[in-house]
Amino acid sequence: MTKKRLVILGGGESGVGTALLGKAKEYEVFVSDKGRIKERYKQVLINNGIDWEDEIHTESKILNADLVMKSPGIPDKVALVKQIRENGIQVVSEIEFAAKFTDATLVAITGSNGKTTTATLTHHLLKQELSVGLAGNIGDSFAKQVLEGGFETYVLEVSSFQLDDIVDFKPKIAVITNITPDHLDRYDYNFENYIRSKFRIAENQTKDDFLIYDADDEVIVNHLKNHPVQSTLLPFSLEKNIENGAYYENKEIKITINNTQIIMPTTKLALEGKHNIKNAMAASTVAHLLKIRKQTIRESLENFQGVEHRLEQVLKINKVQYINDSKATNVNATYYALESMDAPTVWIVGGVDKGNNYEELFSFVNEKVKAIICLGVDNEKLLKTFGNMVDVIVETQFMSEAVKIAYKLAESGDNVLLSPACASFDLFENYEDRGRQFKDAVRNL
Ligand code: ADP
Repeated sequence: MTKKRLVILGGGESGVGTALLGKAKEYEVFVSDKGRIKERYKQVLINNGIDWEDEIHTESKILNADLVMKSPGIPDKVALVKQIRENGIQVVSEIEFAAKFTDATLVAITGSNGKTTTATLTHHLLKQELSVGLAGNIGDSFAKQVLEGGFETYVLEVSSFQLDDIVDFKPKIAVITNITPDHLDRYDYNFENYIRSKFRIAENQTKDDFLIYDADDEVIVNHLKNHPVQSTLLPFSLEKNIENGAYYENKEIKITINNTQIIMPTTKLALEGKHNIKNAMAASTVAHLLKIRKQTIRESLENFQGVEHRLEQVLKINKVQYINDSKATNVNATYYALESMDAPTVWIVGGVDKGNNYEELFSFVNEKVKAIICLGVDNEKLLKTFGNMVDVIVETQFMSEAVKIAYKLAESGDNVLLSPACASFDLFENYEDRGRQFKDAVRNL
């Protein structure tokens, strides 16, 4: 029997993982990357006898595929991808491909913000009692973990790009943390397209599966009203009582599923901010569904220390708290960062503006921000927008300088917050690099 040809576009973590799984499942595999494949990935491909190319896409070696796995970073608009589709070749994402080869229970988490935090927290709650892997946009590729075959449950962080190329992918439990405009350049600048993409997480679910979502998010609620899903709905809310699902009242999270309720105090929650109560509600609902004991959920919520670059407490110097929220690459994430500030704040903001509308931040800026340091290429808009709102607003193109200015401006009891609301590619390699430079600059003060 001739082998089916699996062509993988993109030789990164998900591409190489898929290549290994594909090879093990008897596909003839070819990996093609228009950029440079990292040396360590090349070695894996070579060691496993997998054919590959980089810095080129050879059409003749791609258009003869039976199936294409496209890495999430490659937009649909790329001519080659269009050509592949025009040739009638099926294009799938890694989660679609890998899910076919596992019977594990899948928990899939999407949303505009909070995916990594919620996925990591969910994994942390489940791992106390279950054999569970964490994959998707985080850590080792899902395909590779499926190949190694270790886990009965997977928590998957999934982006809209991965959902764009699913066919049968059907998580037992899906979570949508929230939906705010992001990545619209990949969705024809049409918010509705992006919303639909997020909701594909539930498109193959039946009533035996669950969809956990933020009931305070109007975008989600309206979409559900107009496009009902088959899944059993488990909403969570900070604002109202929820009969079946989770809500927050008197500093407690209350989760009811099939008339059984568990109550978790949040006063000892290590994570700060209202958004993290939401993330905790989503994660605890998953844990409760998967029968993790109440005591375990409670303890694990208390000892979860958060994820680097997300409202990460860096250091306290002269009673000033320095906070790294470099992962806030959009306005909504920064909204929650500013909301959670409990002291006058020197705010470092800026980078590559994605068409930001800063209006929703105005009341927090008026209330909590004493000085603004603009750090990036698009400072002008920030200076114009916030110029009249705070006493001090300055700009720089250097992280070390931004931190030094913040140090001078902050007084005992204040916070210094890096929450850029913008992408990082102007001055930094990525948001991790930006966060690390911030932390290094703070430690050098
Ligand atoms: P994602 O993986 O979706 O990018 P992260 O967990 O990495 O989400 O968080 C990204 C940014 O959004 C951080 O600044 C974080 O503090 C903030 N954030 C986390 N959870 C939420 C939430 N539920 N709603 C809004 N912002 C959030």
